[in-house]
Amino acid sequence: MNLARRLLLWASTNAWLRERAMRTRFVRLSVRKFMPGEQINDAIEAAVRLQPSGVNAIFTKLGENLAELTEAEQVYAHYLKVLERIKETGISGEISIKPTQLGYDQDREICFDYCMKIMKACEAQGTLFWIDMEGSLYTQGTIDLFTRLRAHSECVGIAIQAYLHRTDADLEALAALGSKIRMVKGAYLEPADVAFPDKSTVNEQFVKNCMRLLRPDADRPGALLHIATHDTNIQDRLLAHVAEHGIEKRRYEFAMLYGINSQRQLHLAARGERVRCLVAYGEYWFPWYMRRLAERPANIGFVLRNALKR
Ligand SMILES: Cc1cc2nc3c(=O)[nH]c(=O)nc-3n(C[C@H](O)[C@H](O)[C@H](O)COP(=O)(O)OP(=O)(O)OC[C@H]3O[C@@H](n4cnc5c(N)ncnc54)[C@H](O)[C@@H]3O)c2cc1C
Repeated sequence: MNLARRLLLWASTNAWLRERAMRTRFVRLSVRKFMPGEQINDAIEAAVRLQPSGVNAIFTKLGENLAELTEAEQVYAHYLKVLERIKETGISGEISIKPTQLGYDQDREICFDYCMKIMKACEAQGTLFWIDMEGSLYTQGTIDLFTRLRAHSECVGIAIQAYLHRTDADLEALAALGSKIRMVKGAYLEPADVAFPDKSTVNEQFVKNCMRLLRPDADRPGALLHIATHDTNIQDRLLAHVAEHGIEKRRYEFAMLYGINSQRQLHLAARGERVRCLVAYGEYWFPWYMRRLAERPANIGFVLRNALKR
């Protein structure tokens, strides 16, 4: 892993930097590249603009590692409001949360209860409830949370990180359950005994994991693969794979982030692929933004250009 990426991932966890950066105008301007705004209405409006081109949405309010359990109630209430807004506007929108945004650090049972209630509300509305994957200290707990929820509904999905050594085994168990899985490469700073440090190995793991989930024995009730990458080379390899094996489109969907390779999102939708854009919004954007910069340190050039424009 290169030094710039390491530094940015370290910065993502630094409270001192967070406090200062979030008040700095050029940083606030730069984050707009990846986020239509801080309010849910900004995110909904972005999704409404995207929908005619066939790109559907997933909404996530930024936030993680709550300081107080009481904040989880507000997050829960917020997501119910998001579901109402989705219904009012008639867009196809799903929800994605982080367990630590719903009190996982403070009380796992309460976190489970909130997830259960949001999942049931999603089910009633005919949409999906996704669980993001955080750092490796949370992997097992997040999979356990998903498995408990999955026992009650098919409307739940989980993000799984290709960079983890444990992922091949996790996927076997999850595929047997009939699971909705969002395959991602992984966005956190992890030690080499937990995650593959080498990018080309992670890329190969990602392709292998997606192909595993597209095999006939993974086609169970409730299963779905989200191919969540901006890597066009990998997308093309997987498109060639589905064409070669006659894999039905109902089994997979492409998922990408708002503001990244937007032309590609439109291009995939125009060629008839199912595409979802994850639209993030909210006031607590610093750690998430640092992880986006770390994915492509060239993005720092964009931040610096905004600084010079001040
Ligand atoms: C829908 C979605 C949900 C996600 N959920 C999670 C999650 O729950 N847990 C988790 O750990 N990670 C999550 N991620 C992030 C993921 O782990 C990767 O860190 C991220 O997607 C970057 O890897 P990549 O696969 O896009 O490819 P990379 O190999 O990093 O990049 C390939 C190409 O994509 C473009 N690109 C990628 N990132 C950026 C960027 N930030 N800015 C500009 N261009 C870029 C560039 O052209 C780059 O050359 C999610 C990603 C997506 C798309």
